[in-house]
Amino acid sequence: MQASSASPTINLDIAIIGGGIAALWLLERLRRAGYTAALFSDGPLGAGQTVASQGMIHGGVKYTLAGTLSGASEAIADMPEHWRACLAGKGDVDLRQTRVLSDHFYMWSTSTVGKLTSFFASRALRGRVEKVGKAERPALFANPAFSGSLYKLVDMVLDVPSLVANLAANNAGYIFQLDSGYQWHREGTRAQQRLGCGTVINAGQFIFAAGKGNQALLQAVDAQQPEQQLRPLRQLVVRHDNPYPFYGHCLGAEKTPRLTISSHPGADGRMVWYLGGSLAEEGARLSDDQLIAKGRAELQQLFPWLEFSHAEFSTLYIERAEPKQPGLVRPDQAYAEPVPGLDNVIAAWPTKLTLTPNMAQQIMPQLAAPGANHSDALEQLRQRLSPPALAALPWETTP
Ligand SMILES: Cc1cc2nc3c(=O)[nH]c(=O)nc-3n(C[C@H](O)[C@H](O)[C@H](O)COP(=O)(O)OP(=O)(O)OC[C@H]3O[C@@H](n4cnc5c(N)ncnc54)[C@H](O)[C@@H]3O)c2cc1C
Repeated sequence: MQASSASPTINLDIAIIGGGIAALWLLERLRRAGYTAALFSDGPLGAGQTVASQGMIHGGVKYTLAGTLSGASEAIADMPEHWRACLAGKGDVDLRQTRVLSDHFYMWSTSTVGKLTSFFASRALRGRVEKVGKAERPALFANPAFSGSLYKLVDMVLDVPSLVANLAANNAGYIFQLDSGYQWHREGTRAQQRLGCGTVINAGQFIFAAGKGNQALLQAVDAQQPEQQLRPLRQLVVRHDNPYPFYGHCLGAEKTPRLTISSHPGADGRMVWYLGGSLAEEGARLSDDQLIAKGRAELQQLFPWLEFSHAEFSTLYIERAEPKQPGLVRPDQAYAEPVPGLDNVIAAWPTKLTLTPNMAQQIMPQLAAPGANHSDALEQLRQRLSPPALAALPWETTP
């Protein structure tokens, strides 16, 4: 369908479609580079994968579990440093209002695994992984019942809601909640969006950075490529009273961590342990009750010195949205490419929170130089659309 020539039109250099970390990060990068850019989200900011994530900004060491460095671990190695610069206000986006939950991350095994010990000590990982001696163990592992090995990584963990709030505040006035009834149009090789109020958004470039929503967006502009894959997870949320905030992967026999724990302050004052890793991948094939039983058994086996009898367990089903890979494997890098057949659409998936700066870096050279200043366009948008709310934490909304 073609937009009528009588429709009021708002011209932008760039319209970003999405409301998670990908869209928010990109908006700040583009505005700093002088583009007239606006973000359009169909829901609360951060809703979807971003607030459901475990907040780890990692250098890819967990992908070395196979015993070799993979493409993923090489592409990602610089990311913690990149984020650290932003947290200090010296990077390409300003994250000074973002809370760091932990400035390190642990990896542990329940026994001393010879192959891993020698690999972690190898030259390739020097400076990225450090063995933790008995005297330096965090309180959770100070118990004599623990007989495994513990490593400390240079990775960190962010409080994701504060990250979303930080970027939303930095870019207030440029972020809009789509009104109901908005539609997409394709005119030859150009895409256009018509808001529910009838106004047409005419963007030099649309960037689809809407996570799982990218698939429907691509269909709406009749694009066959790129294709998307969804990898399902069922995370486990454990509210308990053990006083140990902990952030780490438990190493198992597989290439992905057996269990990944991140800790978050619960609104009711209890500690929330949010559990992912292989447990959550397997959990996607289990019922809630089966996963809770499995999770309880895992915690009992891994932490026999802790008490979970009064813990409350719930689950969170969520899909990771990524560009399609052969065999549905995890992509190694962020994706950002022009959509074939369209002159003004780029599709992007960061594939990991960690790799979002890398995704933005890939987009910048694909763009034409900033156009005329369209500040009147922003003013018109502000009169028509409201800013979106911030998404609630999933474990505060899980029944
Ligand atoms: C359980 C889990 C744990 C994870 N843990 C980590 C981790 O610790 N470290 C890490 O690096 N990565 C992690 N990830 C991956 C990371 O969360 C994602 O790669 C990242 O959040 C994706 O961000 P995004 O903005 O592309 O998508 P999303 O966060 O899913 O956001 C998509 C947004 O687009 C909006 N939208 C959808 N459709 C439309 C539309 N048609 N129009 C307008 N807006 C639309 C939605 O409302 C939403 O706000 C994890 C993922 C999951 C699921």
